[in-house]
Amino acid sequence: MGWITRVLVILIVLWALWRFLRGVLEGAGMLSSGSRQPQAMKLVRDPVCGVFVAPSTALAANARGETAYFCSEKCRREWERR
Ligand SMILES: [Zn+2]
Repeated sequence: MGWITRVLVILIVLWALWRFLRGVLEGAGMLSSGSRQPQAMKLVRDPVCGVFVAPSTALAANARGETAYFCSEKCRREWERR
């Protein structure tokens, strides 16, 4: 094996290990996941229909101490009725 091949193999092994460790840590809740997912554009889920919406453009509602965002007035009313 040439040294380039060896370096490539080492890099691939390290990358696979990193992916594996990340998965384990996220599964154990060590890394912040769930509601604080790092995303290019932060999106929140419409709890009624499951569509992802941007909080800046979505309809918001406050109830039971939480804020929820909706794709439409229809979904907001549906959620407030629950
Ligand atoms: Zn909706």
